[in-house]
Amino acid sequence: DPRIHGIKTKIRVVPNFPKPGIMFQDITTLLLDPKAFKDTIDLFVERYKGKNISVVAGIEARGFIFGPPIALAIGAKFVPLRKPKKLPGDVIFEEYTLEYGRDCLEMHVGAVQLGERALVVDDLIATGGTLCAAMNLLERVGAEVVECACLIELPDLQGRERLNGKPLYVLVEYQ
Ligand code: IMP
Repeated sequence: DPRIHGIKTKIRVVPNFPKPGIMFQDITTLLLDPKAFKDTIDLFVERYKGKNISVVAGIEARGFIFGPPIALAIGAKFVPLRKPKKLPGDVIFEEYTLEYGRDCLEMHVGAVQLGERALVVDDLIATGGTLCAAMNLLERVGAEVVECACLIELPDLQGRERLNGKPLYVLVEYQ
């Protein structure tokens, strides 16, 4: 799809952020370009429209940028998966390992019902730990995760292998 190239050129790579040796993929430059931002949303919407998805679950923080416009366009609800102590209601949580240390995602109890079909959205998959935790939250309440969708994949980190065979759709890869 010719739109993919345009999207890729708008993602800025920032060396040594947030620490030395990391090549940070910055999607804020994509958001500055209305055509590239719209193309991004459109590509996801074209893929998921008519697939009977009732939940788009977005991962804090950049899944909150891309998830809601996709949810609105396909007629699904949006559920935020948040870092600890941000959600005011009762939550379930999943801890996961990072390169250094641990992190955690929380979801409101009652936001997702048994048997719902869910799409998980984030900006980027690296090791896959974050998406794995997100899928576990949804599956624990009896939802079916149809697919995970990200703008960017870092294939060298083999995050796909951690998704237990769950399909992952990405727009661009960064080697
Ligand atoms: P993973 O759990 O190792 O797959 O890391 C993915 C999570 O870290 C996602 O929520 C991303 O937003 C974040 N992340 C890791 N590296 C980058 C990056 O280069 N740019 C933007 N986000 C990143």
